[in-house]
Amino acid sequence: MNFDLDAVYIEEQCRRSALATRVRERIPPAVPLRYVADGREAALPRQTERDPFGAGKRRMVVMNRKAPFLMACPAGSAEFACCGLQVLTLASNCPMDCSYCFLQEYLADNPGLQVYANYPDAMDELERLVRRAPGRLFRVGTGDLADSLAFDRITGISRDLVEFFAARDGLTLELKTKTDEIDNLLEVDPQGHTIVSWTLSPNPVFQSSEHRTAPPSARINSARRVLEAGYRAGFHLDPIIAYPGVERDYGELLVELFDSVAPERIAFISMGTMRMTPGLRRAARERFPGDRMLLGEEVLSPDGRLRAFAPMRIALYREISERIKAAAPKMPVYLCMEQPGAHRRVLGAEPPSVAALGDRLARG
Ligand code: SF4
Repeated sequence: MNFDLDAVYIEEQCRRSALATRVRERIPPAVPLRYVADGREAALPRQTERDPFGAGKRRMVVMNRKAPFLMACPAGSAEFACCGLQVLTLASNCPMDCSYCFLQEYLADNPGLQVYANYPDAMDELERLVRRAPGRLFRVGTGDLADSLAFDRITGISRDLVEFFAARDGLTLELKTKTDEIDNLLEVDPQGHTIVSWTLSPNPVFQSSEHRTAPPSARINSARRVLEAGYRAGFHLDPIIAYPGVERDYGELLVELFDSVAPERIAFISMGTMRMTPGLRRAARERFPGDRMLLGEEVLSPDGRLRAFAPMRIALYREISERIKAAAPKMPVYLCMEQPGAHRRVLGAEPPSVAALGDRLARG
């Protein structure tokens, strides 16, 4: 997939980094490249831009990250059942533009597409994590503030990551994407230590809301190809949006998925329904006024997010999980950002402890 870039900024201090060299060599010649003292400043929205957030997605900044790379997944809390994912932030923002994306609120003041040249430091943090907890297996994802593979043909980061994880028994990498950008992955042997996961939505959601992403069938086809290359594959049905015909559309999506990818080879499927803060919903409706997927009826949950009514969410989860279980009774299925009671009502049991669920998902 080719994403348009209006400009690339490389911070002076990163000029000689391996990442800056690759970016310089691989961006299309027509894209203007400038060296700047402060990349964040250079990529800030201009007053005159009609859609400053959208414009920021087309300005890449190669810079050093000053904060730690590794943290516990911010979606986890005492309130929700948590899957134990550790998040590694190697980039911030995404060239795709899903109407429901939380980055529209989270990165509203900082929309440039940052990629961190000092990412090898992240590997030192991972080494320390493993040393602190010998015998544990950590699942570490890079797809929280950015799509894990969107610009991989320019940055080439996936290759270094997969090779690093391939040599470490205590770590499983999860690369999460809505692209079909897998060429670099096919050149490395993950030694079973990397899961590539795709967020999947039915076609009507893809068409109305997931702008510049790969079509669901292309994502499924990519999953089949990485499985053949020795990777593991997982899927996130998230966000599930309650609209007329949603059950039928997920049924068709799962038939297509299981026709292409043998269910017993899938590492896990997660499910989460649409959730938005009021601020995000305002921003999303303003940027995408014609998107009917943003118009559902929602109630405010105790965590300050708007969601579909609980009975409707539970019914949807049940419908979809029953179809999954019919095809693959042993497949690990879990809910994202739902309370333990929802797990019990949908999956028949409270989720195991964070450590146990995290370990199970990491092992597959
Ligand atoms: S692909 Fe993911 S990160 Fe990118 S815009 Fe869509 S939801 Fe946001």
